[in-house]
Amino acid sequence: MIPAEFEYRAPATLDEALGLLAATPDAKILAGGMSLIPALKHRLAQPPLLVDIGRIAELEGVSVRGGKARIGARTTHATLLRHPDFAEAPIFADTASVIGDVQVRNRGSFGGSLAHADPGADWPAVFLALDGEATLAGPKGRRTLRARDFFVGMMSTALAGDEILTELVLPLETKRAGAAYRKLRQPASGFAVVGVAAQVALDRKGRIDRVAIGVTGVNAVPFRALSVEKRLVGQAPDSAALRALCASVDEVDAVGDLYASAEYRAHLCGVFVARAVVEAIARAARA
Ligand SMILES: Cc1cc2nc3c(=O)[nH]c(=O)nc-3n(C[C@H](O)[C@H](O)[C@H](O)COP(=O)(O)OP(=O)(O)OC[C@H]3O[C@@H](n4cnc5c(N)ncnc54)[C@H](O)[C@@H]3O)c2cc1C
Repeated sequence: MIPAEFEYRAPATLDEALGLLAATPDAKILAGGMSLIPALKHRLAQPPLLVDIGRIAELEGVSVRGGKARIGARTTHATLLRHPDFAEAPIFADTASVIGDVQVRNRGSFGGSLAHADPGADWPAVFLALDGEATLAGPKGRRTLRARDFFVGMMSTALAGDEILTELVLPLETKRAGAAYRKLRQPASGFAVVGVAAQVALDRKGRIDRVAIGVTGVNAVPFRALSVEKRLVGQAPDSAALRALCASVDEVDAVGDLYASAEYRAHLCGVFVARAVVEAIARAARA
């Protein structure tokens, strides 16, 4: 289908973009367009104005300093896949490499994925497991939001219509710590039927000291598997025992669709939590 008519602006500064959003109710931000353009074509979205943020330099780029990754919201999946600063944090390549196809990875952005909050999107699981923080710019200035407060419903976030997600800050644990993302892809689109990110830190005896697990694709809203995290603390890294402890995830309230019933998704959730945790432990043991 052909989209409804809209105005298009591509400001060069964040202030200009915020001014355009404030002046036009229902205006939409355009990042990579990989989710928004299909929605426009199906007329699921009919904004009067598109504010393209692709020319705002401060929204792009990656830096890793002081144990924290700072990622500009407009940074593409492909940049995160190849970025040399993430050589010691392979969870970024794990995740970016399984998003869609080459075109989607070259155009789609980290911030766009979080803002769109598709229930099958991959980055939300990583954002939750690494306990990230989002910076939002709006007409009243900037505010920050923890990952756990960011996703509020199905395809719905705490971002207001006149705010722009500018940057994501993700703490990276390195000492005896590892993180991994494991996913079952929907075969046509690549979206997650189930996707799990896990970060594990081991104590001096090699037991699990800290663990955080983010899950996407299962419920309508991505979540932290706090019940499993609690069960795993203090456990030895024995794969068989870990698989049993990961098998049931109390937070699951699975959605069923053409690709997987709710029961199958709930089962897969336990399987993929175990896979991500086992790989995160293996990486932690090498760190
Ligand atoms: C064929 C196909 C396969 C895909 N497969 C996968 C997959 O396997 N895994 C996966 O995770 N995703 C997948 N995607 C989605 C893809 O990752 C998108 O890039 C992503 O969801 C949206 O990012 P974008 O930059 O394209 O945002 P856009 O499409 O430009 O925007 C999406 C929404 O977010 C808002 N938005 C964007 N940026 C900001 C910002 N900085 N601040 C506030 N609001 C903002 C927009 O207004 C819009 O409402 C797929 C998409 C396609 C078309």
